[in-house]
Amino acid sequence: MAIWIKNPLGIFVDDGVDAGGGLIVDDAVITELVPAGREPSSTFSRWLDASDHVIVPGLINTHHHYYQTLTRGFGVTAKYDPAPWRMIRDPIWSRLRPSDVRLAAKLTMCELLLSGCTTSVNHHDVFPKGLKHAIDIEAEVATDLRMRAVFARGSMNLSIKDGSLPPDDIVQDNWAILTDSERLVKKHNLLGDRSGAMIEIVLAPCSPLLVSSELMRATAVMAEHLECRLHTQFAQTEDEDRLFKERFRLSPLDYLEEHGWLSDKTWIAHGVHFSDADIRRFGSAGTAIAFCPTAHWVRGSYPSWVNDAIASGVPIGLAVRSSAANASSNLMREVRLFLQHQRSSRGRVALTHREAFRLATEGSARCLARADIGKIAVGKQADLAFFKLNEQRCSAGSDPVTNLILSDERLADRVMVAGRWLVENGKLSNVDLPKLKEARNKAARRLCMT
Ligand SMILES: [Zn+2]
Repeated sequence: MAIWIKNPLGIFVDDGVDAGGGLIVDDAVITELVPAGREPSSTFSRWLDASDHVIVPGLINTHHHYYQTLTRGFGVTAKYDPAPWRMIRDPIWSRLRPSDVRLAAKLTMCELLLSGCTTSVNHHDVFPKGLKHAIDIEAEVATDLRMRAVFARGSMNLSIKDGSLPPDDIVQDNWAILTDSERLVKKHNLLGDRSGAMIEIVLAPCSPLLVSSELMRATAVMAEHLECRLHTQFAQTEDEDRLFKERFRLSPLDYLEEHGWLSDKTWIAHGVHFSDADIRRFGSAGTAIAFCPTAHWVRGSYPSWVNDAIASGVPIGLAVRSSAANASSNLMREVRLFLQHQRSSRGRVALTHREAFRLATEGSARCLARADIGKIAVGKQADLAFFKLNEQRCSAGSDPVTNLILSDERLADRVMVAGRWLVENGKLSNVDLPKLKEARNKAARRLCMT
């Protein structure tokens, strides 16, 4: 049953494309863009007046840790150093129960959907006793909500007993990690054409410094064999270069290459400390970067290589990764923060607001190697976010898309994923949000106080 989404106030499409008359969505796919003042050439059985809405491609979040929303604001250290941060929070996460993981995943995915995000990556890396099936739980939540999701099957196999930071009871051995990774990929991933996939699994050691060399290498081999992607966290702190050299006698990028990770199958999150030569190597290899503006801002380590990386062909996407940095899961906020810092550091050669927005849609889709999402065009999945511009901060005479990106972040009025309405009139379908928030808060209080 096709629907004509008719005459939007504004629509974000490729430069030079006229979709002023809206678009046709048939089942899960965009089948026609309608020029301004015209009627669709294809048949439709329903229509929606979108004259109050700016329509953009659903945003794509390339990194998050949903369970960490349970400790948002807890044990914040003045300098946000990763080591003390982990030492404070890891013991709390070792007490996670299946119900906590379910609540955190559900509330975070709801938060993302309400902000216009239609696809999100969750990197789950702690597996305390009783949480062996954490990713199955999170995948059930995504299926119930009908949100498009990528689950990064995290892993840590080095703990306090090995001289590392995590407590012994949240890490796993290689056998447990690899057998579960294989099970999840075989259960969820499509082989060949991945178009329209609602859930995907990728393999994702927490950080090369928290797993053994053997596991890093075995993970890359397994990903090649199972035809899935690789994800990890990398180059977050200034001293990583020294740590890699001390432990492995390799630079961080040489380590990635040596272990089969410097390729177009990989995207990394949190990367800040790269040299110009590193960026060129990423570009040659096609390795993508999930850029996390709030995380960089909070740590006071905002990098200036983004323009150069884009020029070198490095795929760049955006990510909220902000629960651990104690902010909300609103990707539009990250677009604006990214723009502000770009302008501060690069001046007039910074990216434009439209280019910055594209990082959160097309750029993020490239991180996930997804050709079917991230853009409003014929043949793409109907993942769409609709925003109203009826506040006093918006001026009716200006370009609505510019107004949407620059005036302030806001919540979506409507959100469609794979042709289904998940948010209507600013509300999620079939979710009792106040009840969910109360349950999540109860779980968070228990975790942080015991
Ligand atoms: Zn992270």
